[in-house]
Amino acid sequence: MTFSEMGLHPRVLDALVPLGYETPTPIQEQAIPHVLKGRDVMGIAQTGTGKTAAFSLPLVHHLANNPMSGQKVPRVLVLTPTRELAAQIDENVKSYAQHVNVRTALIFGGVSQHKQVNQLRKGVDVLVATPGRLLDLCNQRLLSLSKVEFLVLDEADTMLDMGFIHDIRKVIAMLPQQRQSLFFSATMPESIVKLSKTILTDPIRVEVARVSSAAETVDQRMLFVSQGAKRDLLVDMLQRPEVETALVFTRTKYGADKVVKYLKKNGLRGEAIHGNKSQPQRDRAMNAFRKGKIQVLVATDIAARGIDVKGVSHVINFEIPNISETYVHRIGRTGRAGQEGIAYSMVNEGDERKHMENILRLIRRNIPLETDHQWHLDLPELEFDARTSSPKGQGGSSRKGPKGHHRGNGNGRSGRPLGSGSNQGGGSSRRPKRNWNKRSKFKGGSDA
Ligand code: AMP
Repeated sequence: MTFSEMGLHPRVLDALVPLGYETPTPIQEQAIPHVLKGRDVMGIAQTGTGKTAAFSLPLVHHLANNPMSGQKVPRVLVLTPTRELAAQIDENVKSYAQHVNVRTALIFGGVSQHKQVNQLRKGVDVLVATPGRLLDLCNQRLLSLSKVEFLVLDEADTMLDMGFIHDIRKVIAMLPQQRQSLFFSATMPESIVKLSKTILTDPIRVEVARVSSAAETVDQRMLFVSQGAKRDLLVDMLQRPEVETALVFTRTKYGADKVVKYLKKNGLRGEAIHGNKSQPQRDRAMNAFRKGKIQVLVATDIAARGIDVKGVSHVINFEIPNISETYVHRIGRTGRAGQEGIAYSMVNEGDERKHMENILRLIRRNIPLETDHQWHLDLPELEFDARTSSPKGQGGSSRKGPKGHHRGNGNGRSGRPLGSGSNQGGGSSRRPKRNWNKRSKFKGGSDA
């Protein structure tokens, strides 16, 4: 089915042309017809699947077909967990609505509310907001949600993880009972199902690729390195010509700052984004990265949610997350929208081996080991065994490896340089291509 066969407003269709959206993504194909029919939707999809357009396009279509001149308060409320994600959604909605008369506003905490309040006073149709600031403004009676016709709850699982449940309940209580609700989450644990039942009425359930989908499209490698040597290995990797832009993940904010300092000492340009940075600082870092003024963005997981920058060539896990799904979210930042991307993981001799084992179990595949660097630690390999559905490698020989693995070539090093060639390791050589967004030009972000 094409976008025009879905019956979207011609002016909305016009907006898709310069963005390079030719065919709907699977989540769009499944969700848009139901949203257009007025059904509540429960969507299981993660960032990177095109879910923003899946909910935004039919809502912009509806607003274009049913204008309500004179109304100043929002008709659509999109709730999302982080400022970055909110900004990205707002940017997308603006671009989809560029040929129709739809006003958008963006609300999040951590900055002065003054500009946001001014924007609301001018009138708004689509309001994209994080829950805390939204409630603040409602409590100050600077905003009314009494005319909301459509609610979108985006990344519901992250919202719960971040402790927003009470805020969400309070916001929902302010909305009219009579409304259409769309609920999106990457995962569906019991707590999310419970929450969705309090929000949705007779929803259609749509689902695309499990949380491990990015693991199938991104070329992944791991490196064994002691914690103390990681910074030098990182500098070495970043100096390789194929590493054009890199998003580096650390576990802590402090760690992110330390990495950036070390990079600068070694003549590399990088900035950190994390919760201790002010919004203007984050915006500056993001813009510099998007414009190619800095090569490296060092981020913590929460801050990186929603980052969608054009052509991140490499994701580097400077530290391995203890929550396996976080790994999948991280590597999903590269290879986006059909582009090839490479994700490296630096695994130390300690707890990170356990974390990596859990990751292999989640993604159900091997990640090739790169040994072509001077900091390589000769540790037993981590391998996923599909037959037993659990990783092995406890006490196995470090010289042993599956066919095509980047293992020793006699001198204990892989002959392949970092970043070259395709993903050949064990069960991970399959790399299905996404063809739906090959030609996408739009990457979100104000200057992408
Ligand atoms: P999202 O999951 O909403 O973050 O979208 C991921 C990326 O896919 C964004 O860069 C979108 O601009 C892009 N995108 C969304 N839908 C399409 C489409 N139908 N064709 C091409 N690119 C798309």
